Amino acid sequence: MYIDAHTHLDFFKDNIDNAIDEINNLKILTITNGMDLDSYLKNKEYSKKSKYIKATFGIHPWKAYEYQGKLKDLIPYIEESELIGEIGLDFFWIEDKKTYEAQRRIFKFILEESIKRNKVISIHTKGAEKEIYNILKKYNYSNIIIHWYSGDFETLDNLIKLGCYFTVSVDVGYSKLTEEVLIKIPINRLLVETDGPTALEWVNGEYGYPRVIMDVMKSVSKIKKIPIKELSKIIEKNFFRLTRF
Ligand SMILES: [Zn+2]
Repeated sequence: MYIDAHTHLDFFKDNIDNAIDEINNLKILTITNGMDLDSYLKNKEYSKKSKYIKATFGIHPWKAYEYQGKLKDLIPYIEESELIGEIGLDFFWIEDKKTYEAQRRIFKFILEESIKRNKVISIHTKGAEKEIYNILKKYNYSNIIIHWYSGDFETLDNLIKLGCYFTVSVDVGYSKLTEEVLIKIPINRLLVETDGPTALEWVNGEYGYPRVIMDVMKSVSKIKKIPIKELSKIIEKNFFRLTRF
């Protein structure tokens, strides 16, 4: 079985039927992360079309400012969603510092409500790795998937020590930094992902259908020097240990 631990099926738009067919044919257990409420509800509809698709509720840092003052309304969605994501902070792609306080407020609110309910949480850390580590450390919480880590190695080591899990994404085999991060991630904390059709486009110009998870696995297998069958089993074990599905 393949497990895509972080993607965005709503990004497929008109190509969604092809994407879902592929998920069913290849039996890819797919965690489709919400960017905001609309995105979550769309993903939830898709999850009804396939037993392999699980939709998770989250407010992405890029959308956080839209939810100021509406935080309490989010609680029922946090409650019903088996896993939580994508939430986090982004001080790299978002340069407008005026939004940072809103990002922090929404991130901390969803994080805290999710921790109370012992949820597994998928976190975006771009440019905010240290700050996120400091927050997680305060809660001493490690039911966490750090999505596509690209920060410094000291913070990576700290997140590993805390007990977090990590997804490696579609730039594996293309990015020296991702290779170095992958080498450092303990094998029993490793997951893989595709991050929707546009992530691969950003890496090499190709549209990233769900089958790209197989290429990610191939590259990880090469870099970690673990045969692909064995790697599949390890990743399955990691995922089910963390999520208790
Ligand atoms: Zn994402």
